[in-house]
Amino acid sequence: MIYCVEDERNIRELLVYTLETTGFQAKGMADGRELMDALKKEKPELILLDVMLPGEDGYSILARIRNMQEAGGIPVIMVTAKDAEFDKVRGLEMGADDYITKPFGMMEFVARVKAVLRRCTQNRNEDQMLSYGELCMLVGRHEVRCKGRKAELTKKEFELLKYLLENKGIVLTRNQILCKIWGYDFDGETRTVDVHVRTLRQKLGEEGNLIETIRGIGYRIGG
Ligand code: CA
Repeated sequence: MIYCVEDERNIRELLVYTLETTGFQAKGMADGRELMDALKKEKPELILLDVMLPGEDGYSILARIRNMQEAGGIPVIMVTAKDAEFDKVRGLEMGADDYITKPFGMMEFVARVKAVLRRCTQNRNEDQMLSYGELCMLVGRHEVRCKGRKAELTKKEFELLKYLLENKGIVLTRNQILCKIWGYDFDGETRTVDVHVRTLRQKLGEEGNLIETIRGIGYRIGG
């Protein structure tokens, strides 16, 4: 779903029509108030935001979106008339993902929408966060925090914890873990797993207790 905030009806309808014929779902809104109402009901993948709007202008709306808890991360493309005063630096510094100057061709418009969506999907993957209780892992940054305190893990410990977090609630056998993290595909050397779980628990402090030992089988996070 893409929201198009534009007070000029003809342009708004053209944007929505173009997006729909390209295979997107789109909704048009005439001002910031309509946008805020819509955001309460459904979070779009992208917002096209005209700068010159009646009432609250695009910059101010952008700032409000960026301060919203749940909608704060939605990508925004600013739309502006060529002869209007538009400070692209200001827009981008305020967190706009791109901007388009009117009049623009529909091909360019669609290409920019797709580019921003593509970029944001990539970023989202890099920003992947895994968590359980007070334990939080930022995968792309290779960072683990327990109650906000950073834990220094080795690469193997990190991978081990990631594997457990990705399979929350599921018991992973020593062999599964060995195979996944160390790439061995034979029984034995499962002591390697136990040793790493032990050091991992120590480094996680209190949160280390979240890793449960399932006697005779393996380990689990989240029962
Ligand atoms: Ca306008």
